[in-house]
Amino acid sequence: MPIRQLPDDVIDQIAAGEVVERPASVVKELVENALDAGARRVSVSTAGGGKTLIRVSDDGGGIPEGELLLAVRRHCTSKLGSDVMAVSTLGFRGEALPSIGSVARLSLRSRLRGADGAAEVLLGNGQCEGPRPAALSAGTVVEVRDLFHSVPARLKFLKGERAESSAITEVVRRIALAFPNVRFELSGSDRSETVYEAGDRADRIAAVLGEEFIENAVSIDAMREGVSLSGLAGIPTYGRGNALHQYFFVNGRPVRDKMLLSALRGAYADVMSRDRHPVAVLFIEIDPAEVDVNVHPAKADVRFRDPGLVRGLVVGAIRQALAEGGLRGSTRGASDMMDAFHMPASAASYSQEPGARSPAFHSAYARPSGPVGFDPARSPSRPLEPRLAPDFGVREEAAAYLADFVPAARAAPSPFAEEPSRDYPLGAARTQVHKAFIVAETRDGIVIVDQHAAHERLVYESFKAAIHGAPLPSQLLLIPEIVDLPEEDAERLAEASDSFDRLGLKLERFGPGAVAVRATPSILGRVDAPALVRDLADELADGRDGESLAERVDAVASRMACHGSVRAGRPMRPEEMDALLRDMEATPGAGQCNHGRPTFVELKLSDIERLFGRR
Ligand code: ADP
Ligand code: MG
Repeated sequence: MPIRQLPDDVIDQIAAGEVVERPASVVKELVENALDAGARRVSVSTAGGGKTLIRVSDDGGGIPEGELLLAVRRHCTSKLGSDVMAVSTLGFRGEALPSIGSVARLSLRSRLRGADGAAEVLLGNGQCEGPRPAALSAGTVVEVRDLFHSVPARLKFLKGERAESSAITEVVRRIALAFPNVRFELSGSDRSETVYEAGDRADRIAAVLGEEFIENAVSIDAMREGVSLSGLAGIPTYGRGNALHQYFFVNGRPVRDKMLLSALRGAYADVMSRDRHPVAVLFIEIDPAEVDVNVHPAKADVRFRDPGLVRGLVVGAIRQALAEGGLRGSTRGASDMMDAFHMPASAASYSQEPGARSPAFHSAYARPSGPVGFDPARSPSRPLEPRLAPDFGVREEAAAYLADFVPAARAAPSPFAEEPSRDYPLGAARTQVHKAFIVAETRDGIVIVDQHAAHERLVYESFKAAIHGAPLPSQLLLIPEIVDLPEEDAERLAEASDSFDRLGLKLERFGPGAVAVRATPSILGRVDAPALVRDLADELADGRDGESLAERVDAVASRMACHGSVRAGRPMRPEEMDALLRDMEATPGAGQCNHGRPTFVELKLSDIERLFGRR
């Protein structure tokens, strides 16, 4: 075939393939246009998941009648001067309207502010009509009908009405978060109506993500080398099953940038398992010259001149905020648990008036003396005191536990000598139930601790401290354990052997395709060394691109902590339980286990009383 210039309508259709993927992308482009026109109120109405109809109306500045035809012509925009790097509007490529018009029937009706009438143009599958007079009191209305009807191949790829309709909702939520002072209305025959009233940023976040998110989030406000990061990040126990609830904005523009999403994952890497996802709303403000938004036709991706700086800011600020948040469990987890309190049928008649909400848990609280840093002297990994176990003649199991946690000094007084204070945040241990949970009494309630989860977290925290501080003690194996592995795994393990050293795991290459384990971390007790090593090899292999070794080592430490922490099913003595509680209070991040589940929940006395209808 000879080389020839493509006809305009074909070029438009090709462009449409990039800009207009599905109804939600049409909504995004039209709402962005409304915002660029200075709208204070934007309403979106849809039918058939946007496949039948999308109508976006705004009260913005409008388009002069003489420019209506230009607006729907390719590469015609009122927004870009000559500097692509200096765009402050959401749109600038002049592609959206012609692209949409090439795959749907589009009508554009507008009235320039101050003009004495409105006009409209119609665009249908490449053909253009108008402008002609129309009725409209202010602003602009764009209607898009029968999207992709002329392109059956594209239509086939769309999902069902419900999925497309909820993708539209998601687009509006995302944009609404970025423009709290604009009122958004979303309605149509395929949905229930949503209205976001104009307000400030906090109001809008609460309206879009719910009050519950605000209660379960820490606020982020950090600055590094002229780049600022602000917003809210959910606490780890508030994690979700998918990554949908992660909102990033760069200079007010909603983006779904891979590097930013990966930085967010990195920030939670050591407090959340890989199948849970944090909730976050984060705003980045950066000199426009430092970021290129013109990388992607739908402008979802951006390119930072210094991605390392931005990544470091996101990871660092969130980690710090979470650590400063101190001991905090999710209120959601606790209220779920509350719902699980079943009342015997005969007692039901004594329950509160119908419809009364179940009493709320208060597992979130601040430590009275503010956040506590990591204290090696109190760490579960501190060196053992040799005289400990024999002196007390405790049972072997308990001795093993004590060896990990309780220095002789603290274990010395008889369990009954002194009442541990209920003033501690986690209270005084009262009993252990099912060899798995510790029940403690606080000044105004009770705390239930998952001993396995808590122990795992403490072990992990001491691993982390060891990575950056003093190495952990290790226990020499009588005979080194030789573990056969695929060569790449052996290689990766050997590369990381210095980091493992610090954690008390000593291993080295042992010919091709094998490593020799000479010592394991004492803190883990007796471990299955080959299983541990294979697991670590998997973790190293799992490392994602762009993840630094330091981040991977955290994940490795988390894996390792799982191995030793087989503490459920172990009876504990009162002072061991108290020691565990005190260690939790002194350890940052002890409120959740490495997988983002809470390590403890708290029930206030007032709530217990309410359960029994006493209040
Ligand atoms: P871009 O937004 O990249 O400029 P579009 O194809 O989306 O390209 O829009 C083309 C032009 O039409 C815009 O530059 C703007 O001048 C005008 N326009 C589109 N929608 C509106 C609107 N809702 N209100 C006012 N002007 C609009
Ligand atoms: Mg546009």
